[in-house]
Amino acid sequence: MHWADEVAQTLIEKHPDTQVFTCACGISPSGVVHIGNFREIITAYFVGKGLKDRGKDVRFIYSWDSFDRLRKIAKGIPLDEKYIGMPYSDVPDPFGTENSYEEHFEKPLMKALEEIGISCEFIFQSKEYKSGRYTKGIIESLQKRKEIYDIMMSFKTQDANDEDREKYVPLELYCQKCGHDFTEVTKVSNDCTKLDYVCKCGHSGQVDVTKDHCVKLVWKVDWPMRWREEKVMFEPGGRDHSSQGGSYQVSSVIARQIFGIEPPTYRMYDFINLKGQTKKISSSSGTDMSPSTLLKVYEPAVMLWMFTRFLPEKSFDIALDSDVLKMYHEFDRMYASYKDGTCDEMVKRIMELALSTTNEKDFVPVDASLIASFAPIVNFDLDMLTDLFHKIGQNFTKEQIRPRFERIKHWLETYCPEEIVRLIPEKNDDFVKTMNDEEKLWVKKLTDEMEKKDLSAEEMQTLLYDIPKINGEQDKTRQKRFFEIVYNLLLGKSKGPRLYLFLTAIDKQDALKLLKI
Ligand SMILES: [Zn+2]
Repeated sequence: MHWADEVAQTLIEKHPDTQVFTCACGISPSGVVHIGNFREIITAYFVGKGLKDRGKDVRFIYSWDSFDRLRKIAKGIPLDEKYIGMPYSDVPDPFGTENSYEEHFEKPLMKALEEIGISCEFIFQSKEYKSGRYTKGIIESLQKRKEIYDIMMSFKTQDANDEDREKYVPLELYCQKCGHDFTEVTKVSNDCTKLDYVCKCGHSGQVDVTKDHCVKLVWKVDWPMRWREEKVMFEPGGRDHSSQGGSYQVSSVIARQIFGIEPPTYRMYDFINLKGQTKKISSSSGTDMSPSTLLKVYEPAVMLWMFTRFLPEKSFDIALDSDVLKMYHEFDRMYASYKDGTCDEMVKRIMELALSTTNEKDFVPVDASLIASFAPIVNFDLDMLTDLFHKIGQNFTKEQIRPRFERIKHWLETYCPEEIVRLIPEKNDDFVKTMNDEEKLWVKKLTDEMEKKDLSAEEMQTLLYDIPKINGEQDKTRQKRFFEIVYNLLLGKSKGPRLYLFLTAIDKQDALKLLKI
């Protein structure tokens, strides 16, 4: 059974009387939401799909932890250090395009999800905290702060001490004067609603947690408090949260002992590596590791497919190098077996999940390698490419070619310009010098036939295999050499797109100009 279905089944067994299941995920908008974070959303999404396919209703919530403090300024973000210690929601957009720091990093991800076709209910924690929604949870945590301290310390190696235990409060307090959390709570009122504090800025004051909404619970208390608030039943978490003594384990104990709830079912997911990232990807060049970046190269279905085929615990590579075509090829192969019904149950489910946000009726997987081979020849003109495709028997409409065409074009130009196939401007005289007389004759045979008539793709294929035959027999070495020669004469390198298609597709006069040696 597919992992998402297994989790869904477990959830239903655990909550047999429940109809609406809340699946949650959450990320702090500290910077560009990268493809690793995206796995969090996708893991929750697939489990939700598994539940829906079993007749359950799903509430899919996505929490933006925007009331978290800005901890550090990441490289490439033009922001003054004076904002460190303030909540993301109160920090201005360093790039000046949105209303705040949080919005700047939230919007692209929300747009990418829309493009993929995943909808979720966004919860902005700065709004929730500032609305007073969590006041009850905050007071409760303050009342049980010593128990919380004990739980926290039970996971630490250093010894607890009475003085720290006495002073401990499980929250961050943003100063009412300067907005930073460089504060220290000096007194908690008996009913746990009022906090006296001093700030590094010199301000001292009192916060009434029922009215002044400027405190935030520390992460390991905040998380279970929100599990209770939203009745979360499933939530995935990254490797960093999943270790022994990590957030999920500590928060689970706090959930049970402080908030009186069972923690949600949890699934760890591992990192994702980006292949071909090292040189080409940096935020300054606009090619960061975000889902939007990948959507410019991969169709939504192909992107989902990459995630759905692996267990969440398994790390995998996403390619932006020449393996992009391999990815498309593998997807298409699996898609074909799904369509003609020859695949097994697992592949069927993988494809169902991958295609779950795609309108299958209109989905036509046009061979990405063909696009990569031929689009450059027509200078990435889609109309001409469509005509060229018809010439080689690929009868797709322009609109069917468009989705992959745009992605392959972007990929070639941005990440793999060296893979762009173009005819060389002048005859390859240097290469001709390496050819013997027989080889020159092979090429002459080819150009003679081409001049005689317009060859169909099929005729071209037969011809290319006939020319280097020896006594009517195929010879692999000669065959290979012949292809190498033609590629070198046309492209100046020893490899290229499928030769018979290429020769049929390109302008005949252009080809003859280079081949007539
Ligand atoms: Zn202050």
